[in-house]
Formats: sequence, C-alpha cells, structure tokens
Amino acid sequence: MGDVEQRQPPTRVRVRVPSKINLFLTVRGLRDDGYHELVTILQTVSLYDTVTARLDGPTAQHPAARRSMRLRFTQEATAGVPADEDNLAVRAARVVMAETGLGGGNSGGNGNGPTTRLHLDKHIPVAAGMAGGSADAAAALVALDELWGADLGRARLRELAAQLGADVPFCVSGGTALATGTGTATAQVLTRGTYHWVVGITDAPLSTPDVYRAYDEVATPSQAEPDAVLQALRTGDPEALGHALHNDLEVAAIHLRPDLADKRDALLGAGALGALVSGSGPTVVGLAATAQEAGRLRDAVSDVFDRVEVGSSPAGGPEVWRD
Ligand code: ATP
Repeated sequence: MGDVEQRQPPTRVRVRVPSKINLFLTVRGLRDDGYHELVTILQTVSLYDTVTARLDGPTAQHPAARRSMRLRFTQEATAGVPADEDNLAVRAARVVMAETGLGGGNSGGNGNGPTTRLHLDKHIPVAAGMAGGSADAAAALVALDELWGADLGRARLRELAAQLGADVPFCVSGGTALATGTGTATAQVLTRGTYHWVVGITDAPLSTPDVYRAYDEVATPSQAEPDAVLQALRTGDPEALGHALHNDLEVAAIHLRPDLADKRDALLGAGALGALVSGSGPTVVGLAATAQEAGRLRDAVSDVFDRVEVGSSPAGGPEVWRD
C-alpha cells in the first residue's frame, strides 16, 4: 500500500483480518430493490480469520503464463462454510481475476501453468453477525492484489468489494466507520481508546435475510440517531458507549430466538456496561470497563453461551505478511 520503491511480487501472502461488531445500527427503510437502507457504526474486533495465497509453478512469475492462472481453494472443514466457488474468498478471487485479466479459471491451462493456492483458516463464528464471510472476501482481495502484483490499491479494492457484499468495503479498510446506504458507503470515524468485549457465541446460526424479513414483520421504524455513539467514541468513554449501544435488528433477532434476550440480560446482570445483539445476530456482545473485567464477565456467562471469547476494539484492518 503506497510503497514508493519497486519490488518483486511475493510468492506467498498471508492476510489476517478482524471481524466486526455493530455499535449502532438503524434501519431507515426498505428500498424498491428489496435492500434495506441502514445507518450503522461498525468497528473491527480482535477475532480473526487468516487467508493465505501462494503461487505455485515454475512459470508463476511469467506474465504470459499468468494469463492461464488456475485457482485452488482449501480450508479446514467448517460447518456452514462452502468449500467451493460459493465461498466469499473464492468469489473475491474471481473478481480480482476478472479485473486484472489473470487466469482462465479452473478449466484453463495444460497443467504446466501456475496455480494460486488460496487457504482459509476460519475462527470467526459463522453466520453470527460478525461479518466473517465479508472479512474473508476482503482478505482475499488484499492478498491477491499483493500476490499478483496487481497494484489495484485499497480504494479500487473497496469498489470491487461492494460487488461482493455490504460489509466487504468496510472490511477492506477496518477500523471504525459510519456506513450508510445498504452499508457499502463508509466514512472513517474518530475513535479514542480501546474497548473490551465479551463475545457470546451461539452455534445455531441466524440467516441475515431471515432477520431482515422478521424485522419487516415485527419492527416499527425507529428514530435512533448515531450521535451518542459517535460522541462516546470521540471521547473514549466506555461507560457512555455502553449506554449508547443500539441495534434496530435486535428485536427481530430476539423475535426469531427469544433466548437471545436472556443472554443479553445475563451479560448486563453480570455487570457489562452495555450489551446487544451484534448485527443480525445471534452473537451477543457485552462491553466491559477493562480487560480484566472482560475476563471476569466471560467467566460469569460461560454457561449461558456455546462459546465465549474476549476481544478488543478497534482491531485495525487487514494485516499483511509477504514472503
Ligand atoms: P454479516 O455480519 O455480514 O451479516 P454473518 O457474520 O452473519 O455476516 P457470515 O459468517 O459472513 O455471516 O456467513 C453468512 C453465510 O455466507 C454463511 O452461512 C455461508 O453460507 C456463506 N459464506 C460464504 N463464504 C463464507 C466464508 N468465507 N465464511 C463464512 N460464511 C461464508
């Protein structure tokens, strides 16, 4: 990113990418195309996936050979995550290939051309409202831009990212952002300090489209504004942030899964400064005053969730290692 000196493209690029939580989310209406208009504040949190991209083959660096580039995708089997062309990391790779004219897909080549091996290490909970798939797509965009020496840069990657999903442009940048429209238009937000979270994970996934459908059925439009969250972030005040946390989709997620209200209340009862369903759920996050306090809260609610992690935010953006 922004490097001045010319350098040889690497043969292996590893990108570690954080998940996100929504500190604020309000649904402003339903558009004619079926998408919802949102105003949301997203912040990366320190639960990570890693995407590794590697070039194989003796002719890998030859420009002509790279036109017949093939793509191979692998991952440790993870429930609910497609291992084929439907995986968002693979879809992202195809977008970069189309953009750069690299590769003819899996059908091309005579066996001697180079192969790009894309591997996903998944730790972000799946279909959990933490943008795991979007994070993987962003990681693949960043990794392949580097590996293939495409030099598209983060601004162009964000444009390509918008084709892949509403949260993907945010995941390319990371940090803290105010997102509007369907979520793809983002502006970075000033934030001070580090926030400590207890992340309560429920194994049974919740589908984002189902949650929006439930929202349309049960929710009345809210007038919530993001100002209190923005102000708390500006001053680095966890107590104020705890009070200001807001998610319109929470009522819909709880409509589909009434136990999520109990889980949120368990976090509040244990002393969290604030707690809410993240995005479309079912993950519930609780804000703690300090890292030690987050550890104490985790222990207090360990029986309430299938898995409980602690994390901190903001967690930066995609981090790149090359060799
Ligand atoms: P968001 O917070 O953006 O609404 P989410 O965290 O609720 O997303 P994801 O974990 O991104 O949900 O997964 C949603 C669906 O996307 C999964 O059920 C799965 O079928 C599909 N998917 C495709 N690629 C991936 C991937 N790399 N990781 C996870 N899910 C993926």
